Amino acid sequence: MIKRSFIGLLKPRLEYGSIEDTPSLKQIPTPKEITILSNCPFDKKNLLLKKKATVKTGQKLLLYKESDEYVISSVTGQVSSISSYTGDFGRSYTAIAIEVADDEEIDDEFKATAGGSKDATIETVKNYLAFVPGNSPVKLFSDKSKPVNTIVVCCADSDLLITTNQYVVKSDIDAIKNGISVLKTITGVNDIIMVASQGQMHELSATGEKVKQVNDTYPSALPHLIMKDILGKEVPAGKNSEDIGVCFISAEAVASIGNAFNTGQIPVTKILTLVKKDGSKSLVSAKLGTPASEIFKAFNITLNENDRIIFGGPMTGSSVYSEDHPVQPDTDAIIVQDKEDIPVISDYPCTNCGDCIRVCPANIQINLLVRFLESGQYEEAADQYDLHSCIECGLCSYVCVSGMPIFQYIRSAKYELGMANTAEATNG
Ligand code: SF4
Ligand code: SF4
Repeated sequence: MIKRSFIGLLKPRLEYGSIEDTPSLKQIPTPKEITILSNCPFDKKNLLLKKKATVKTGQKLLLYKESDEYVISSVTGQVSSISSYTGDFGRSYTAIAIEVADDEEIDDEFKATAGGSKDATIETVKNYLAFVPGNSPVKLFSDKSKPVNTIVVCCADSDLLITTNQYVVKSDIDAIKNGISVLKTITGVNDIIMVASQGQMHELSATGEKVKQVNDTYPSALPHLIMKDILGKEVPAGKNSEDIGVCFISAEAVASIGNAFNTGQIPVTKILTLVKKDGSKSLVSAKLGTPASEIFKAFNITLNENDRIIFGGPMTGSSVYSEDHPVQPDTDAIIVQDKEDIPVISDYPCTNCGDCIRVCPANIQINLLVRFLESGQYEEAADQYDLHSCIECGLCSYVCVSGMPIFQYIRSAKYELGMANTAEATNG
């Protein structure tokens, strides 16, 4: 539920969504074609995977020569195209379209390699389970430059309206327990903390793991605030929790790892929360790579010109411009907004009202920061106005009376600075 404060002096109270006792889940039929997106930029010259290659469900697909990046096919069928896909800020992805065959075959390479949960190794998890539903951060576990001391399992959902991880906790607690046991085996980390909303405390306490309660108001369940309020650790500006030994993983990713070792099959079905134009919510299960249009079809949702599709939650999600955008391992929600309900983005100047500063959990002087961001002075914004202290909650954009797209400016600036740093490091 979202309640705006009556006057700007009060902070808005934004309550996280909660789940009913027996929520139903709508299964989306497997479409005729799915599209898997890889974070690797498209590089035609070095492609390993070929058009017309046949693939099985759960098959690991290596994409490029001299790269260990891979995706997992969520269906059985034939690769119909491999192309470049442009995402946020012009970022390039590789899109692998697969035409789905009538009969499904399950790939058995993982089963043959993995054995049971007691045989789990960091190499197996890294080599097969980096692309599971829930966006598993498994590569971190083998990064020797960032040793992990604590693993935080997010059982509460981090953005508003979403109930995806809460559903997984309710429906698949045994898989989560098995996933935690695998994580302990492969990392040697015994400090595992489950972070839960009030309504989940009782259920999770029965697992025997350490459970901590997160506040029910946004943005308490964002990683930086969990670090500060629950673990008592400050993440330095410009750093992530993993830089100081804490790895966050969603309950869904833990359940995916648990299920993979339970069944010998790599999970390929994503749970997500669909928020319709009237604000009503439904839980959905869809194969990774399913285009959003197939989900809309299953719910009789019609899109009109200028309606908006958001992948992710209302505060931190990103707009996508095509109904064909596919479900990915981190797609916890899809929101459809009627054009009449989209907040107006204006080019009014900042009035120095101070609402954004009062609401910012990182205490940033946003009224000053935004001037540098508007004029593209990103380095100055970082050096002088704490750009890198921003924890990306989106509250500043939500409260801005001038309708300035502050959060988009911030993300864009961080992306551009990140690209510039990478280019500098690559060129020596
Ligand atoms: S998104 Fe805005 S309100 Fe949130 S931490 Fe960053 S600057 Fe502050
Ligand atoms: S950026 Fe928006 S919310 Fe912040 S001081 Fe300016 S007008 Fe007010």
